[in-house]
Amino acid sequence: MKSVAFPRQITILGATGSIGASTLDVISHHPERYSIFALTADRAAGRLAELCVRFSPRYAVMADREAAKELRGLLQAGGCATTVLEGRQALCEVACAPEVDVVMAAIVGAAGLEPTLAAVRAGKRVLLANKEALVMSGQLFMDAVEASGCCLLPIDSEHNAIFQSLPGDFRRHPEAAGIRRILLTASGGPFRHASAEKLETVTPEEACAHPLWSMGRKISVDSATMMNKGLEVIEAHWLFGVASERIEVVIHPQGIIHSMVDYIDGSVLAQLGNPDMRIPIANALAWPERIVSGANALDLFEIAALSFERPDVKRFPCLSLAYQALEAGGVMPAALNAANEEAVAAFLDGRLGFRRIADVIEATLERNEWADAETLEAVLEADARARGFAREEIRKRGAA
Ligand code: NAD
Ligand code: MG
Repeated sequence: MKSVAFPRQITILGATGSIGASTLDVISHHPERYSIFALTADRAAGRLAELCVRFSPRYAVMADREAAKELRGLLQAGGCATTVLEGRQALCEVACAPEVDVVMAAIVGAAGLEPTLAAVRAGKRVLLANKEALVMSGQLFMDAVEASGCCLLPIDSEHNAIFQSLPGDFRRHPEAAGIRRILLTASGGPFRHASAEKLETVTPEEACAHPLWSMGRKISVDSATMMNKGLEVIEAHWLFGVASERIEVVIHPQGIIHSMVDYIDGSVLAQLGNPDMRIPIANALAWPERIVSGANALDLFEIAALSFERPDVKRFPCLSLAYQALEAGGVMPAALNAANEEAVAAFLDGRLGFRRIADVIEATLERNEWADAETLEAVLEADARARGFAREEIRKRGAA
């Protein structure tokens, strides 16, 4: 790993999103510790221009070339010295530049895989919010972590909680850790009590109105279908080396316990906190130290009670589909992820009903042939093929 001198140089992939904003908020509390090397976005030039003026990164990258032109114009007009780069290759370059110590991987979806993997291969401290990258490439991703010796730290609140509840050397001595089960908590999303009939008529606005977390639109829909928890089961399998049958999903509507590890001696360790992504972000930025995150202290008297329920896989079949893809292995998790991204995008634009998201994913998995996921090319090919199938399935099912 690189030197630990302060301030550490950070690249934020996906800086204009919800995780990007929370990361910049934590960093703004600690100007002596962190300095921004690069900020990236897909096409939100106006928002990225504001962030460049405020944080003066050396580079700003727009994945979209037209948006890069717009950003250059905005920065010139504002007298900002940040250099604007463009395109997918530039995302990888700012993720693995020698000056960079830490990369926040917060692009949403498969688009984040290549830059995140570039950061891993370059041995950076990688803060992983972009769960889809790990879901798609599982073994390949973890092999790259092992080969480069990179410090991979989970940002997903559940995985960060598990990380905090595990012994420091669990990767080197997984047997000695004595883990019986991972208990992955889930809030249950906005439709925890909704009937199957109600789920037929859910709108994008309703699906994006999460009861506890304010997040990007794609992960909000994933939370509503519970595919988010399915992706998190796969993420937990790869991060912690625990078999799928030992990862149990527990509905915990208050969202205070962020996940737990159940040990063979009967001890259960948990991490608690308010539902605020700045907590896991600060944890991973400073690990093994602790820094102020800006989040409020937990008030247990105000919360008063914590409750737990079993998930209902009949109403939320996406959870079972994710377990099936994980158990099938190879490129199946990549196909699951691709089909889900296509189906969620179609739902958000009004081209597909909410309940049909799971149908599209199931049909795509049935059509998708099993293959090894040993190379990046194989993963990207499976992603493209599954998207093709999913688009056909979406067309067949039409709007709502
Ligand atoms: P978001 O939609 O708010 O932001 C996504 C970011 O990715 C934006 O900066 C956008 O410009 C960029 N982006 C999108 N498509 C791109 C492309 N094709 N190429 C390059 N950049 C692209 O999403 P978010 O809610 O911040 O989530 C980001 C990631 O973090 C997701 O993988 C999500 O699952 C994960 N995550 C989010 C939360 C949360 O609370 N928001 C919690 C846990 C995990
Ligand atoms: Mg999560």
